[in-house]
Amino acid sequence: MSLNIINFAYIAAAICFILGLKMMAHPRTSVKGNIISAAGMLLAIVFTLWDKEIVDYRLIPIGLVIGSGIGAVMALRIKMTAMPQMVALLNGFGGAASTLVAGIELMTASSRGTVITDQFTIAVAASGLIGAVTFWGSYVAFDKLQEWILGGKPYHFPGQQLLNVTLLVACVIVGVMIVLNPSAVYLYWILVAIASVLGVMFVLPVGGADMPVVICLLNSYSGMAGCATGFVINNNALIIAGALVGSSGIILSDIMCRAMNRSLMNVLLGVIGPTEGTPTADAIYAGKIKSVTAEEVSMLFDAARRVVFVPGYGLAVSQAHHVVKDLANMLEAKGIEVDYAIHPVAGRMPGHMNVLLAEADVPYDKMKEMDEINPTMSQVDVAVVVGANDVVNPMARTDPKCVIGGMPIIDADKARTVVVIKRSLSPGFAGIPNPLFAMDHTLMFFSDAKKAIIDLIAAVKAG
Ligand code: NDP
Repeated sequence: MSLNIINFAYIAAAICFILGLKMMAHPRTSVKGNIISAAGMLLAIVFTLWDKEIVDYRLIPIGLVIGSGIGAVMALRIKMTAMPQMVALLNGFGGAASTLVAGIELMTASSRGTVITDQFTIAVAASGLIGAVTFWGSYVAFDKLQEWILGGKPYHFPGQQLLNVTLLVACVIVGVMIVLNPSAVYLYWILVAIASVLGVMFVLPVGGADMPVVICLLNSYSGMAGCATGFVINNNALIIAGALVGSSGIILSDIMCRAMNRSLMNVLLGVIGPTEGTPTADAIYAGKIKSVTAEEVSMLFDAARRVVFVPGYGLAVSQAHHVVKDLANMLEAKGIEVDYAIHPVAGRMPGHMNVLLAEADVPYDKMKEMDEINPTMSQVDVAVVVGANDVVNPMARTDPKCVIGGMPIIDADKARTVVVIKRSLSPGFAGIPNPLFAMDHTLMFFSDAKKAIIDLIAAVKAG
């Protein structure tokens, strides 16, 4: 097939990717954006296969069947709450694929004795380095989020940063040696081995509430590795798709760092950790917790003009989003203004709350971003915190050295009355107590979120 037609198809695919990304930036257009991007990818795949006369087509269905089978089982078995681990693992697979493809291309080129260009070897070295860091970094991130290693906590040891810089310098030196001597294929695997250690070391100091940022960053790395592999196999569609994944991952990491009031470097070095000065749960809660029943909360609604739901991870665990929407409908029917306050890192993946609430048909204009809702929180009669904890923890404002120190939060504590729905006084992801629960105007509704909301609906109906 003519190179012009193929490049034209790749440009069309790239336009689909860019349009799709743009549309995915807003919940209203995101589904269409996803379909357009997928169509672009299909176009790119079809024309790539068409282009390659030497592709052994028998292998493709085998790969498709094995890959789709594993993917389907993983997708069916994975719990919604374990999505970050799943994303981490998938990023890792992307990195591993880039590393292997680049290595095999180098082996093939050197065994055939064809002329090897600098562009090729530089791209091979970049794929090996970034791909191996991505795979091992993602694997450690997966283990940490599953709490298989170190209980998901950051791990520091003396000289850690020096070791990381040394490993990176070693990778660059070996990379230069590969460019100078492409026939020494063993150098590539040495590079991959050093980069693998770097990947492990890179994620070890990160933990707790910083894990989502590192996962976004690894997602970006998987794109960059793919982009480099695009140069290795001379595929423009892969170069463009990889660059888009790489840049969007970096942008998302930056947005998340801003949401936590942290710099990326600060997150990667795992600078902030729990301090001895952080008060214990006993010191904060003792004798100050007031619990309520559904009937009592329903009476609060009788006198309310404005109610804000603040959803968090517990909403996802109990799948309470549909019933929250039902309760909101009932309150609105009573003339109460209802909104939803969305924190950028609520739940366990970026956009987690938006996705769940959109699934329950909550109108997009009712989902208010943190910056939009916070200035109005003092005019809220009842803030109903549904399974959220860290994202409403005022300690982020008062204790700069605690794990979430400096992270902007939803100012639920500024509402006239706060009702917190959760099962116990257990901490959230960051593992620290929450002074909000012990405040004078806070009432704790101890229950599974879905059951609590169903009970509230019954109480509002009965009232
Ligand atoms: P948290 O993890 O802080 O708290 C969730 C709360 O939900 C827990 O305290 C738990 O309390 C409660 N809960 C759990 N199950 C239920 C249930 N069935 N019914 C009612 N309540 C329940 O969640 P937030 O959303 O407030 O904060 C998110 C945290 O996760 C942040 O620290 C963020 O950095 C981190 N994170 C975010 C990611 C993202 O991309 N969004 C990814 C990874 C981590 P109890 O057990 O008492 O019920």
